[in-house]
Amino acid sequence: MVDVAIIGGGVIGASVAYALCRYDLSVILLEKENDVALGATRANSGIVHAGYDPPPGSLMARLNVDGNAKMPALCRDLDVLFEPCGSLVVAFGPKEDAVIRTLYERGVKNGVPGLSVVDRPGVLSMEPNLSPEVTGALWAPSAGIVNPWDLCIAMCEVFIRNGGEVRISSEVTQTESSDDGWILHLPNGRVRARYVVNTAGLYSDEVHAQVSPPDFRILPARGQYFLLDKREGERVHRVLFSCPSEDTKGVLITRTAHGNLIVGPTKESVPDKEDTATTAEGLAEIRKKALRMVDSIRFRDNIANFSGIRANTDRDDFIIRAVPGVNHYVEAAGIKSPGLASAPAIGEYVVDRLREIGLSTVQKQSVTDHPDALTRRVVRFNRMTDEQRAALVVSDPAYGRVVCRCETVTEGEVLDAIRSPLPARTLDAIKRRTAAGLGRCQGGFCGPRIAALLAEELRIPPTEMIKDRPGSYIFTGPTKGGPDEI
Ligand SMILES: Cc1cc2nc3c(=O)[nH]c(=O)nc-3n(C[C@H](O)[C@H](O)[C@H](O)COP(=O)(O)OP(=O)(O)OC[C@H]3O[C@@H](n4cnc5c(N)ncnc54)[C@H](O)[C@@H]3O)c2cc1C
Repeated sequence: MVDVAIIGGGVIGASVAYALCRYDLSVILLEKENDVALGATRANSGIVHAGYDPPPGSLMARLNVDGNAKMPALCRDLDVLFEPCGSLVVAFGPKEDAVIRTLYERGVKNGVPGLSVVDRPGVLSMEPNLSPEVTGALWAPSAGIVNPWDLCIAMCEVFIRNGGEVRISSEVTQTESSDDGWILHLPNGRVRARYVVNTAGLYSDEVHAQVSPPDFRILPARGQYFLLDKREGERVHRVLFSCPSEDTKGVLITRTAHGNLIVGPTKESVPDKEDTATTAEGLAEIRKKALRMVDSIRFRDNIANFSGIRANTDRDDFIIRAVPGVNHYVEAAGIKSPGLASAPAIGEYVVDRLREIGLSTVQKQSVTDHPDALTRRVVRFNRMTDEQRAALVVSDPAYGRVVCRCETVTEGEVLDAIRSPLPARTLDAIKRRTAAGLGRCQGGFCGPRIAALLAEELRIPPTEMIKDRPGSYIFTGPTKGGPDEI
């Protein structure tokens, strides 16, 4: 019997796990996929929004501004890529200038720090590649960009290091009440828990339905993107949003935490929660809107297209509460955008809800004695000085062998990912942890080398190696030599 079971290993489940791991509690996080961060947390814009968008007085406004304020220190503690670059909502003409004014006033009400309205010369001096037709912008210096997968993985790793358990490939198919709490049914067994937290993202309505009829609906909304080569990464220096209007949704142009340029997303209702297709029409729409802002973007440097699905709902706020009429059960359901920006605050907010329904939280002695128990450090060879690199290679020659040339990722870093508290077991899991395969060649060069390292470490034949989800085999069999050769 555990004290708390968390259903869903996206950035929200991870933030709850991270917030709970300082307390003397047994906690398990159950994730249906073969890794964490494979839902909305996998495919989003990675923006730490400032918080001028949500309606004043909403939970979204409060948790966005709070999460934004907590993000820099959290990323420092967890060694997660974060850049406080700020954001601009750019206006073209008097109608959009008025929208910017409204966003400014809303932001002030929400408590967003440092907001200002910038005139045309001001915005062009900040972003020289913007179209000269621009008439002004809303400047939000507290916005930033973060690596969403790494934030989720890092919180899970620290949770595990502090006694928590992450069980992957563990879909909760049924939730049964018992005398002392809950019995969660999984494909390969059961977990008994005193308290349950539902952070199942797009499936939070279905998981809720296992305990009571849901009073909200998930309305999946797809967002498609272009991911451009790093050569385009310097095209803009801040997050640029086009101005939203009544009949058109804006798009954004920004550098990613890894230095690529990302352009998107669309906003399309899709009936299927797994429909992550990209379409010619969707991409054309983004391209047109982005070129209106920055006409020099070289879309021929596109290296990948992808899409993610937002867990939008029929409510205009996050749904975070102890579920009425259901004992010992809290949910953070339908966490749409700005869920990523709000995540550092949502974890703590959920713990407060658990306390309200009786969970006792006493800080662990190990955390009191060692505050750095809640921190993490990783090797990032491509961010080191030559002196640091030289010392590292002397300590372990595996850091002297570069496997991913595009991102300069070493064998040592790949091995770190495989041997980490939440071990990478697939090629894409290595990519999410190290960035190997994220660059221009998209794994063409490093893929076989990483597959060989994985096969060796996991002691499995290369033919059992998968790229991502179960069944995504890479090799069918040997072309020459022994059965284990690739
Ligand atoms: C296109 C797009 C752009 C976005 N851009 C931004 C942005 O720039 N900034 C921002 O702040 N927010 C953004 N968001 C929103 C942000 O990505 C989400 O709010 C956040 O990732 C939600 O995290 P989550 O943990 O609730 O959901 P998810 O990441 O979807 O995690 C839910 C997890 O639950 C698991 N699960 C489901 N059912 C079960 C079950 N029965 N048993 C076990 N596990 C289960 C799933 O496999 C999944 O891993 C964007 C979202 C999208 C889609």
